Amino acid sequence: MAKPKTKQSGDTPVPPQHEDSPFLSIVVPLLNEEESLPELYQQILGVMKKIGKTFEVIFVDDGSTDGSFPVLRNLRESDPRVKVVRFRRNFGKSAALSVGFQEARGTLIVTMDADLQDDPAEIPGLIEPLQNGYDMISGWKRKRHDPLSKTIPSRFFNFVTAKMTGIPIHDFNCGLKAYRSEVVKEIGVYGELHRYIPALAHWAGYRVGEKVVQHHPRKHGRTKFGLSRFFKGFLDLLTVLFTTRYIRRPLHLFGLWGIVSFIVGVALDGYLSIEWILGRTSLSNRPLFLVGFLFIIIGIQFVSIGLLGEMITRQERNEQAYSIREILK
Ligand code: UDP
Ligand code: MG
Repeated sequence: MAKPKTKQSGDTPVPPQHEDSPFLSIVVPLLNEEESLPELYQQILGVMKKIGKTFEVIFVDDGSTDGSFPVLRNLRESDPRVKVVRFRRNFGKSAALSVGFQEARGTLIVTMDADLQDDPAEIPGLIEPLQNGYDMISGWKRKRHDPLSKTIPSRFFNFVTAKMTGIPIHDFNCGLKAYRSEVVKEIGVYGELHRYIPALAHWAGYRVGEKVVQHHPRKHGRTKFGLSRFFKGFLDLLTVLFTTRYIRRPLHLFGLWGIVSFIVGVALDGYLSIEWILGRTSLSNRPLFLVGFLFIIIGIQFVSIGLLGEMITRQERNEQAYSIREILK
């Protein structure tokens, strides 16, 4: 398992569970997976029997149009540990996870895809580090069973995301992840931000780790995300960077580049002006003068945008800008 960047102290045992809350909540977002659901449920039962702890399974039906819901209703009727949330229409995986997190009452929470590509047998291995100081463990499908058209862009996506977010994780978009419940209760997942939960958790100060998990080819049905996932994924990366890293200090982002641009512009035009004063050139036939001008204007614009951003975010400064681990009173 990759070591997280943050220090691992291992000093925080999993808190005792509430009397009526289960040890583990398994959250499964799904869209049109009727053929896979019964098998998935059986596999989960098998694994949980081995673990021997209380659990609940929360299926979130993200607007399925096949027979998924009737299948889930049957499971629910025969097993009270099964909970089912059904959306009115398809709202996306992030929305489904978000509701699943809200409903989850377990001390620990595991998410997994419904299509049998994620293996419930990985659950014990994923939750084990949570009892040893980690707050979140993200699965890593090291050996993937997906078409190349998916794995190659995905590698690129993961590489860029890891670089830009500064988190050394190989597989941001793995469906299999495990959390201590406080992580998901705090982090809001909307849009298509589910791909960035490790980043959001890391920035909030949680200790995020990674563990290699088995991955299987899709047995039934087909993937619900086309190529557009990568474009949307990158736009979401911008959103994540802006709304988390820079939201409280927009001037740091815009101001830096604004000042750099301004200095470059002043240097170019300053040089040309000196040449002009010394009579060595005339400015009318020096396009470089305009380029310098452009840099100066862009620089001023950027600094102004940053300042505007500061003024806008000042309104929100009172909101929670930190994440408390514990308070001893
Ligand atoms: N899914 C969902 N809502 C959507 C799209 C997908 O709940 O709008 C579920 C889907 O049923 C599956 C999981 O998210 O359980 C991952 O989707 P998929 O297997 O299609 O993605 P891939 O494995 O191709 O990345
Ligand atoms: Mg899948």
